[in-house]
Amino acid sequence: MTILVWHRRDLRLQDNPALAQAVQTGAAVVSVFIFDSAILTLTDIAPIRVQFLLDSLGVLAENYRRIGGQLVLRQGDPVAVLLDLARETQATALYFNEDIEPFAQVRDQRVHTAFQEQGIAVQRCCEIMLHGPDEVLTGQGKSYGVFGPYWRNWVSRPKPKPYPKPHRLTTVELTSQPLPTLAQLGMSTDQPPVDAGEDVGLARLEEFCQPEYCFQYSSQRNLPAEDGTSRLSPHLRMGTVGIRTVWQATVELEADAYSDERLENLTAWRQELCWRDFYKYTLAYHPETVDQPYQRKYSDFAFNDNEEHFEQWCRGETGYPLVDAAMAQLNHSGWMHNRCRMVVASFLCKDLLIDWRKGALYFAQKLVDGDLAANIGGWQWSASMGTDPKPLRIFNPQTQLARFDPDGSYVRRWLPRLTRAEPKELMTTQNLHRYDYPRPMVDHKQQQELFKRRFQAQSQVKSVES
Ligand SMILES: Cc1cc2nc3c(=O)[nH]c(=O)nc-3n(C[C@H](O)[C@H](O)[C@H](O)COP(=O)(O)OP(=O)(O)OC[C@H]3O[C@@H](n4cnc5c(N)ncnc54)[C@H](O)[C@@H]3O)c2cc1C
Repeated sequence: MTILVWHRRDLRLQDNPALAQAVQTGAAVVSVFIFDSAILTLTDIAPIRVQFLLDSLGVLAENYRRIGGQLVLRQGDPVAVLLDLARETQATALYFNEDIEPFAQVRDQRVHTAFQEQGIAVQRCCEIMLHGPDEVLTGQGKSYGVFGPYWRNWVSRPKPKPYPKPHRLTTVELTSQPLPTLAQLGMSTDQPPVDAGEDVGLARLEEFCQPEYCFQYSSQRNLPAEDGTSRLSPHLRMGTVGIRTVWQATVELEADAYSDERLENLTAWRQELCWRDFYKYTLAYHPETVDQPYQRKYSDFAFNDNEEHFEQWCRGETGYPLVDAAMAQLNHSGWMHNRCRMVVASFLCKDLLIDWRKGALYFAQKLVDGDLAANIGGWQWSASMGTDPKPLRIFNPQTQLARFDPDGSYVRRWLPRLTRAEPKELMTTQNLHRYDYPRPMVDHKQQQELFKRRFQAQSQVKSVES
């Protein structure tokens, strides 16, 4: 008996439900990854993310070899490739882990139907979230639209344990394409590759679980100059680390969380894992939010169509040091600190009044961890048009700089032009032009008034500046 295991964004052996369940049957396992031309030509693709994918596939293939298995690489339309493989191996079943993205849902249903027509069983496993979309519902059986009550329900539920890693596999040796390079896929990037693969992801998790990191999370997580967050996002995005494994690590940390302070840090980190689930959940129930605001009343919000302003924001030449440093971090490294993602997104939507969809697309084209649900969720939150819309929060980029990078070390790291600028010069922006740095492109005070007027014309939400 042979089972096909189809890898997509679950590039690991450990804590992989589809693989573990296939192995448990005792069947020979043929594992495959398909380069799907329909994905490679999408506009929201980032070469740095594809490089991370390629490197992770290299590691996965090697890890398969170590346990007597093989990762077969193919290119083409998944329906055709998988049906060919099923014929070649006389497979009796196809196993894969579910995805909640609209594009993936359509593709998976096509595959499912094609296999059903051939009389081949399909097993779809819940992998991508700690709790699948239908597990966390209100008392009336409806989905939540606000994070607070979702979190309380979510955190109170028993959590699934990680699936065991197979130690030995039986497989059917097949011909496989060589792993392509980024150039062979027609892409290139100046952003340096980010260390990829399951082994690196697990090591990163272990490192972050050291007390000096995880029990300092609350105080460090908002300081972009510090290494205060886990940096697991590319691994969770590509599935080189499983979410149950991450949760289990937090359970093991409970033994060391002997003070209220330690427990509070652990809870703060768990809450971020819940945000990850929540945004996937929201996308699963509201696939239309891919390009429409969750709050439908803002569908026709009068954004400005100013390409020059948008380009200045993309290049990090707004004249606001924290915004520009953050955009430099994104452009040069493919990652951006969460605090800065909120600041630059707020600046684009509320200071430049440019459509959040343009910002989300730019992020998706640059981020190594670019993830549809988290990106859309983060952008709609920043535009105050998504879930949890109240109050209307407007970030003042200079106040944010003073609070979260008070000595300017993050700004100076990413904006070498400002290396010699004193913290107080950074805070005022007045004299920064003498370092050949642009003057603020817009007046924050004026622009936020303009945004508030347009926004409040569509709703009466109290506003807060921070
Ligand atoms: C405008 C905007 C766009 C964003 N786009 C993305 C994106 O494309 N991909 C992405 O993974 N995250 C995105 N985020 C969320 C967040 O910024 C990153 O997940 C986080 O910075 C990753 O760093 P970390 O792994 O060190 O996080 P940690 O703080 O260590 O958190 C652990 C994990 O929890 C998840 N997580 C943390 N914060 C959030 C959040 N607010 N929403 C959803 N999941 C979260 C991530 O998987 C993260 O790896 C976005 C946020 C904003 C405001």
